[in-house]
Amino acid sequence: MRIAVLKELAAGETRVAATPETVKKFIGLGAEVAVESGAGVTASIADADYTAAGASVGSRADVLKGANIILGIQGPDPKSLSGFADGAWLAAGLNPFGERARVDDYAKLGIEALAMEFMPRITRAQSMDILSSQANLAGYKAVLMAANAYGRAFPMMMTAAGTVSAAKAFIMGVGVAGLQAIATARRLGAQVSATDVRSATKEQILSLGAKPIFVESVAGIEGEGAGGYATEMSEEYQKAQAELVSGHIAKQDIVITTALIPGRPAPRLISDAQLATMRTGSVIVDMAAESGGNVEGSVAGETKQIHGVTVIGAKNIAALMPADTSALFSRNLFNFLSAFWDKEAGKPVLDEEIGNAVRLTQGGKVVNERLLG
Ligand code: NAD
Repeated sequence: MRIAVLKELAAGETRVAATPETVKKFIGLGAEVAVESGAGVTASIADADYTAAGASVGSRADVLKGANIILGIQGPDPKSLSGFADGAWLAAGLNPFGERARVDDYAKLGIEALAMEFMPRITRAQSMDILSSQANLAGYKAVLMAANAYGRAFPMMMTAAGTVSAAKAFIMGVGVAGLQAIATARRLGAQVSATDVRSATKEQILSLGAKPIFVESVAGIEGEGAGGYATEMSEEYQKAQAELVSGHIAKQDIVITTALIPGRPAPRLISDAQLATMRTGSVIVDMAAESGGNVEGSVAGETKQIHGVTVIGAKNIAALMPADTSALFSRNLFNFLSAFWDKEAGKPVLDEEIGNAVRLTQGGKVVNERLLG
């Protein structure tokens, strides 16, 4: 069983899909690991560190030769893949909706493509979930980005020259990233409030010492979809939410938006008119900018001034902390493959529940229901 670890070639991608720690663990399972030269450099891992862990290091063509499993952070360009074993697996964050044409190409190449972001949200798959591990650190970093762009302090400070008041931070969307954003903003000393469409998050917000801001007027909406995902909300709810946000947002200094609905454009949480009510010098970090944005006018990868508000269209925040995010992503991949490792076969054999969820292609065809349906 040969595992190939590719160097990420996408612009701005700094992470790597295996670390010396996971290389050693794969070797412990009886696998052979080959790492593309320079794959870990931007994540503070030298080729020599991989060699010391027992991997071989070489060119892309070298490492792919006879590979049974190919690991990546993002999906590699199909044109760059050759020489791998028949029916090789590709396990990575494949962005199946955004990179649909690539999925067809992987099928044509005879690759079994496994999209790690399609991991089901079930207890036993928590340790394999790249969305959670990366969102957690991204939620932390988003608050630091906001603090850095904000021309004032976060905590209340009493100085001989007078008092500096605490920043008011509002977190919109309390999933994995949002919870970490609340905790980080609290640690920095801000006064924190938060909102979500899932009523289950109210308790979590309170337990982190923040104030929940919730639509109470529209009854009966729990906002909970399959696997803990938010569902798209009714028009009535969206109207009530917009009114609530309008009143609250005008008083905020920092806003972090994190709301995503898988396979759909991100919900619009802040309109241009609402932005115009915010104080000059306020800062918004739109963590959903790459999926169309929660904030009107935000652009992925750009920082814009809109009505005097700094709107940061965050893009691949996880790549800003590559050493830690690579370590967690790599463990997710190892936890996934090792959980299904069949000792006799000397390779992983997926079960139906997780296999059907993550498998995009098999036997030359696209097989995933979410892509076909
Ligand atoms: P996410 O990235 O899908 O979305 C971020 C948050 O935005 C969610 O809380 C969502 O409810 C919220 N949101 C969506 N539309 C909104 C709107 N219009 N207004 C305000 N908020 C909106 O979420 P996530 O971080 O992946 O987590 C969602 C839930 O799934 C959490 O309860 C999490 O603990 C759970 N989860 C479980 C597992 C597992 O068991 N393996 C793995 C990951 C997440």
